[in-house]
Amino acid sequence: MRKERIKMDESCLYKIQKAGVIGCGGAGFPTHVKLNCHPEYLIVNGMECEPLLATGRYVMRHYAPELIDALYKIGSEIGAEECIISLKETYEPEIAALEEAIAASGHEIGIKTVKSFYPAGDEQVVVYETTGNVVPYLDIPISAKSVVINLSTLLACYNAFLDEPFTHRLVTVAGAVKEPCVVYAPIGTSFCDCIALAGGPDRDMSELTIVSGGPMMGQLPGDDPKQMFVEKTTGGILLLPKETYKNEPLDLANIRKSARTSCIQCTNCTEMCPRHMLGHPLEPHKIMRVLAYNELSDVMDNPVIRSAALCSECGVCEVYACPMMLRPRSVNALIKKELAKAGYRHPKAAEPTVPHPMREDRKVPTSRLATRVGVGAYFGNLIDTLKIAEPDTVHVLAKQGIGAPTELRVKAGDVVSAGQLIAACPEGKMGSDVHAPFGGKVTEAGKYIVIER
Ligand code: SF4
Ligand code: SF4
Repeated sequence: MRKERIKMDESCLYKIQKAGVIGCGGAGFPTHVKLNCHPEYLIVNGMECEPLLATGRYVMRHYAPELIDALYKIGSEIGAEECIISLKETYEPEIAALEEAIAASGHEIGIKTVKSFYPAGDEQVVVYETTGNVVPYLDIPISAKSVVINLSTLLACYNAFLDEPFTHRLVTVAGAVKEPCVVYAPIGTSFCDCIALAGGPDRDMSELTIVSGGPMMGQLPGDDPKQMFVEKTTGGILLLPKETYKNEPLDLANIRKSARTSCIQCTNCTEMCPRHMLGHPLEPHKIMRVLAYNELSDVMDNPVIRSAALCSECGVCEVYACPMMLRPRSVNALIKKELAKAGYRHPKAAEPTVPHPMREDRKVPTSRLATRVGVGAYFGNLIDTLKIAEPDTVHVLAKQGIGAPTELRVKAGDVVSAGQLIAACPEGKMGSDVHAPFGGKVTEAGKYIVIER
């Protein structure tokens, strides 16, 4: 049974909450919580800076009027003084589509264009590029009078205003597939089904790495695409050749050994670091030096080691900057895990930092980055083919994104209808609801809620 319809006089944020909308471009923060503020700038992040991902660009080309409508509604409700869409100057068809939609709407919405560099889509970078304000390290954009929303999230908000829960999303399927495309998929669709819609792999799967997300910051969820499922935060499914893709994890012992034997302390990793360039006190070459000659457990209270907490894990240092193929990002990721285990929380900056005077010259061009990370062969083609996934079965993760564990609202054997609430955020907690993408029978209800059509 479909949940009760939301009344038209209910607020935008209430509708977004009831639809279970979470941030589609990152960790999945509940959107109604993020937007519950009064920013000077409401910024739409249209950068899509990871090579190969095409979902955001597809959304801008094909849903520009919906984006503008939703942006205006949200901006009006939260009292934003300016609504701005930030994207790359190379996205010409998208800029044209947005300009046409803005002109037709009559709304005052700005477009900000920047060069094509990585990581232009990092929230801290987006805020600086769009407003000139620097977000203090470890703080959130509202501290720089801004709130940033992803394109797919904004589209999900538009649907929420039509009382449609967040049950489907667009996913880029690219890399070593026969027909790269954007798939419109119910949440819970298997990666296997999405890859099949893209014509399947162009070689034996044993030669490929599956990446969920972009080649720089995506996750490596495993080897079996039948056991991986689209979540609300899944923006891309990439198949990348093992022999060229250079982002596989390493263990700490190996990283330390190579840091000792090969780190020439050239400081390239620091000089190219996007967070360092924003003025954040993060210097990965120093972290490498301390770790090369010490056991991590002995230096956990060293301020240099603790500064790893400021790392965004963008990967510029290890994929692009380091001439010795070392892994400063992986080092930082490991240190961050250990710091978290030890209960350490790095203090936030007391005030905004000042960007490095050379920042403009140290931006990493996306096309060169694509070659370095081993995906140059697939980079640069506009993906404009849409495929519709209609799986017979979905495995819907019962807790999507950040927040409290959800309470199951169904059990095995229940029959559900499309859009029905199947897992709910507990009253008074921060989190998000989950809904059935289609009607059918629940065959399992646990970590995953399995629904058969
Ligand atoms: S991954 Fe490397 S380049 Fe990126 S923020 Fe961390 S230290 Fe800086
Ligand atoms: S770029 Fe590589 S070699 Fe140079 S300091 Fe950083 S880790 Fe060491």
